[in-house]
Amino acid sequence: MASYCHRRYVSRLFQNFGKLQPKSKGQEIGLSCHSHKLMLYNDIIAQSYAGGFHILPIGLRALEKLTRLVDEEMQAIGGQKIAMTTLAPESLWQTSGRWAAAGSELFKLMDRQKHQFCLGPTHEELVTKLLANIAQVSYKHLPIKLYQITRKFRDEMAPRYGLLRGREFEMKETALDTYNGVCGAYNRLFDRIGVPYVKVSGATGIIGGSLSHEYHYFADVGQDSVLLCERCGVQMNKELAAEDGSLPSACQMPAAQCDLQEQKGIEVGHTFYLGTKYSSPFKAVYMDSDGSTMIDFHMGCYGLGITRILQATVEALSTETGIRWPSLVAPHQIYIIPKKDGNRGEDYLAAAESLSDSLTQRRHLQGEIVIDDRMNLTIGRRQVDADRLGYPYTIILGVKALESPALYEVVETATRETTFMSIDQLMSLA
Ligand code: ATP
Ligand code: MG
Ligand code: MG
Ligand code: MG
Repeated sequence: MASYCHRRYVSRLFQNFGKLQPKSKGQEIGLSCHSHKLMLYNDIIAQSYAGGFHILPIGLRALEKLTRLVDEEMQAIGGQKIAMTTLAPESLWQTSGRWAAAGSELFKLMDRQKHQFCLGPTHEELVTKLLANIAQVSYKHLPIKLYQITRKFRDEMAPRYGLLRGREFEMKETALDTYNGVCGAYNRLFDRIGVPYVKVSGATGIIGGSLSHEYHYFADVGQDSVLLCERCGVQMNKELAAEDGSLPSACQMPAAQCDLQEQKGIEVGHTFYLGTKYSSPFKAVYMDSDGSTMIDFHMGCYGLGITRILQATVEALSTETGIRWPSLVAPHQIYIIPKKDGNRGEDYLAAAESLSDSLTQRRHLQGEIVIDDRMNLTIGRRQVDADRLGYPYTIILGVKALESPALYEVVETATRETTFMSIDQLMSLA
């Protein structure tokens, strides 16, 4: 039957905790953060080289869900998805003046004709050139809302903390569009993910432009500091306060009443209003309503660190020993543990498979259920692993699951609450 294909078993490669891990792994990452360790130990990611990570099957499910959420929010504001090249010719980066400005963070390489390229760390040049090449853009086409979710390359000075600071990472970029429109979509996205975040004024750095905001998750390992005051409403990256000395003027209150707090943040998104910084040198223009005037595009660009967000949610929500996912991103929704029993082990496994099939069909949970089929292990031992992986619900099939009517023990991971449920109650589980 079709549903059989949707069954997932824990004993499969990469679902069986720690089997493939080199003995030295603990030492290698001794100094890292807990999300990095949890993701390595649970085969969510594997290191390829310093700052480069493979995303393994469970991790990829979560990443794809996150990507779908981003797509939904971008499509909702009329975004059009594209995929630009990874290699960018030096000439374009010379036009913007960033070939030199980006310095040693650029990965540079040369083709056989001795033309220089870089591996795109961000794509303002490429997207502006793409638009400049289109001859007949008119005011009627505006706003243009292009976005892509692709891999970026930056030769970071100190890659660390797994996906939080990689040398290649996935980023979603939007070009053009209206600034507030994209910020609205980002707010909705971060609300849906559900991890507390803050939006602060940010520095424009090498990307440039005149207006910029950053989205941050709160975490001790965050490499940014954000300044927040509930009384005067200041929310800004400390970097910005240091850069332009804007702090005193941003705070409208007498110093004694201001209650500025400094917190560590992980920068998960960054929006920039660029004006004509790129369109002007690339001559990216559109025809105005008078039918004769050519006007430089006013552009914005908006980055979301997709792989960074994935790990940052884990960093923000997890315990030292167990992953906790935002429910919309959890790789699987339900973890089933059938009881080990000398005589009836087969019956419990069959009951688990049948429960998985019914839930899959009636709740449309294709691929969302895993069965812990390591029937040589006790329930308690497997519950420890279920807790480590942190899927929203664990269902234990004990003696009552083989009685009539059957009762299933349901553990909600977030609250650790346990309830016995009938099949009908399970079918309406939130
Ligand atoms: P950071 O301050 O952490 O170095 P950035 O300000 O250089 O980041 P942007 O150029 O604003 O980064 O890129 C947009 C988004 O891409 C960031 O908000 C972040 O979420 C993500 N990002 C940037 N660098 C990395 C990296 N090395 N690894 C993973 N994600 C990253
Ligand atoms: Mg950076
Ligand atoms: Mg930054
Ligand atoms: Mg930034």
